[in-house]
Amino acid sequence: KSKADKKGQYLFYNNLISVQIMRKMEIQHELARALERGELSVHYQPQMSMREEKLVGVEALARWFHPSLGNVFPDEFISVAEESGMIHDLDLFVFRRACEDLYALSSNGEGALKLSVNISPVQLTEPEFFCDLVDICTSVGIAPERITLEITENVFIHGFDIVKPLFAKLRQQGFGLSLDDFGTGYSSLSYINSLPLTEIKIDRSFINKFLDFYQSDMLVRMIVGIGRLCGLVVVAEGVETKSQLDKLLNYDCDLVQGYYFDRPLTIEQLSEKVELCKE
Ligand code: C2E
Ligand code: MG
Ligand code: MG
Ligand code: MG
Repeated sequence: KSKADKKGQYLFYNNLISVQIMRKMEIQHELARALERGELSVHYQPQMSMREEKLVGVEALARWFHPSLGNVFPDEFISVAEESGMIHDLDLFVFRRACEDLYALSSNGEGALKLSVNISPVQLTEPEFFCDLVDICTSVGIAPERITLEITENVFIHGFDIVKPLFAKLRQQGFGLSLDDFGTGYSSLSYINSLPLTEIKIDRSFINKFLDFYQSDMLVRMIVGIGRLCGLVVVAEGVETKSQLDKLLNYDCDLVQGYYFDRPLTIEQLSEKVELCKE
């Protein structure tokens, strides 16, 4: 390549990187104000029980609508929030709002919808965070037993010995504990029975492929098998087709979540759905 070509390439990548950095800075700057301005909201994606074929719970997912940037999605803003420390307020906002919404939908009785909330691994080592969760449950009046905290495998960057007592403490309070995006990161099979987990959630990337690729298929089958043998609830996320659903039913998976049933819904849409299910 000529010298000019190389220089052009260099400038191209250099500009690309600047654009990415500027976008990130903008996100960070705007996110700091998003909470106060009421730009953040929470959507709820239904989780269906495979065997009873009914709605049993929802996963709360953060949503951000910015007046000029439009919809910004969690895959972009969660990592920014984690790096800048804003994740603390963000996760607590989502947790509180979700508890309030679910409590309003139905109080704690028999058959009440379960709630899953994502908790950043960054949070888990913050001592006051634990108390904050319990305080919110008490003030809203929702039982921690109704709530499952979803934590990704990335939590193990903290090291197993740090994570284990934190998990134990959360379990003692009654929260369910789910290992989210299972199979993608730091997971080790030994974690499954040496941690007080209640649930594992098979990552969407496996569900995407398992009809077409033998390896993914075997992996999904194995994860469901091991999870069930260890007495855990096994959830499949990202289910988009009937064939995927049928196969998961065959493997005896407990819960499914995905566009095949519903996209994440506003609380109003969820209420309507719950009403329809009652009839
Ligand atoms: P996740 O916890 O694994 O959530 C599942 C993601 O898959 C959600 O993306 C959901 O909208 C999407 N999804 C569900 N079903 C389907 C499907 O059938 N097909 C496809 N293609 N996608 C599906 P979302 O809402 O964009 O969230 C992305 C990630 O951001 C979440 O992954 C979670 O790790 C994180 N996140 C979202 N809200 C929060 C929050 O309040 N706090 C924290 N710490 N993390 C959050
Ligand atoms: Mg999740
Ligand atoms: Mg997941
Ligand atoms: Mg994920």
